Amino acid sequence: MSKYEVVIGLEVHVQLNTKTKIFCNCPTSFGDEPNTNTCPTCLGLPGALPVMNKEAVKKAVMFGKAVNAKINKISTFERKNYFYPDLPKGYQISQFVVPIVENGEIFLDNGKKIGITRAHLEEDAGKNIHEGDVSKVDLNRAGTPLLEIVSEPDMRSSDEAIEYLKKLHAIVRYLGISDANMQEGSFRCDANVSVRPKGQKEFGTRVEIKNLNSFRFIKQAIEYEIERHIEAYEYDEYEDEVVQETRLFDTKSGETKSMRGKEESADYRYFPDPDLLPLEVPDEFFDIEIPELPHEKKQRYMEEYKLKEYDAGVLTSEPELAKFFEKMIELGVEPNAANRWLAIELLGRLNKAGISIENSPVSAQKLALIAIREKEAVISGAGGKKVLDLLMEEDIEVDEAIEKLGLKQVSDEGAIEKIVDEVLSANEDKVAEYKAGKEKLFGFFVGQVMKASKGKANPQIVNKILKEKLS
Ligand SMILES: [Zn+2]
Repeated sequence: MSKYEVVIGLEVHVQLNTKTKIFCNCPTSFGDEPNTNTCPTCLGLPGALPVMNKEAVKKAVMFGKAVNAKINKISTFERKNYFYPDLPKGYQISQFVVPIVENGEIFLDNGKKIGITRAHLEEDAGKNIHEGDVSKVDLNRAGTPLLEIVSEPDMRSSDEAIEYLKKLHAIVRYLGISDANMQEGSFRCDANVSVRPKGQKEFGTRVEIKNLNSFRFIKQAIEYEIERHIEAYEYDEYEDEVVQETRLFDTKSGETKSMRGKEESADYRYFPDPDLLPLEVPDEFFDIEIPELPHEKKQRYMEEYKLKEYDAGVLTSEPELAKFFEKMIELGVEPNAANRWLAIELLGRLNKAGISIENSPVSAQKLALIAIREKEAVISGAGGKKVLDLLMEEDIEVDEAIEKLGLKQVSDEGAIEKIVDEVLSANEDKVAEYKAGKEKLFGFFVGQVMKASKGKANPQIVNKILKEKLS
């Protein structure tokens, strides 16, 4: 590995969450009856004309602002010609000569810059569905707006590629321009991978792995491909084994397989779409305010809430998580306690159960109340975890759960003093030893009092009273 250098560039297709398609008024909803969300335009019928969706333009501009890119006042639409059953026109309308967004950047945690060459608007194709011997075409997706985001070949490992993708994923979700649901294909990635001996100026032969839709598969596919290239170098078979082509990742075998020779842009016979004027971005779009971005929020959490970099990174990794955290703060929970209850306790339980934060059975209000009851010493930290366990299973209120589990701590000083007196008089020998200087016996007394109270005595009060009695 140390003899070689990996070069990775990524193309990400993001489905923009506009209500209607990019060039017609059909809805973009997912999962409807096949071919119901169609019209002459997205069916590609002769004579039907495309009309640009302004919302799609606005969302592309928002993305451009978020990655510090140049937004072109004028951009153009071209026809990209190829034939697929799910592409009824025989061409896809895309931006080739001048994209709406150019020259952006995203920074990895270590400060490394990954360049974004361009982001352009285009229409999605339909879907081919294969059932046994029969293949069917569903054109509901045809014409859904896509933003294709093309990176520079700046990544040098699968880890860097995944970090870049996760940052990109978080940015589009924070902007609210896409649900970026990877299972439903609203955020999918093509990876361009090549390997060269260290020190070589020219890039190695590039292969493209198509249509990856989970972070885990993307990592596996890239790593498989890197290994295949290095092996080819080592066995002196590079020229034969590694050819410029498009490959598919087989999620079952964990291998990539040749799909077809890679087309060059000339193969698509791009030409200006005569049905669409050049796109002029309205002036007011240049002044659109965009929401706080993940890296900005992370910085703010570190400064305002004094959270560690790692914790701030976890809490801001998804907009829903940050919203949950901020709700807890709003309800009066201290930042460190909110972080502990949310990032460690709740997320740990959700991950184990395979539930996302959006579908958490425990709301921010309930989790905040657990933290508050702990602070008030109504329950102990350990008690709070038991309450949370119960809330994961049952839809009940926090105080109800505390009652049900019998976790209410005894904070009545008189009651605790009584137990302390009993413990001390039952252990007169140890008290004498303590007073003679064996101070580590203090823990023994605390333990005995807690035991006698069946774990319900408030430990802070136990400590206080013991100290008074033993001094
Ligand atoms: Zn339509």
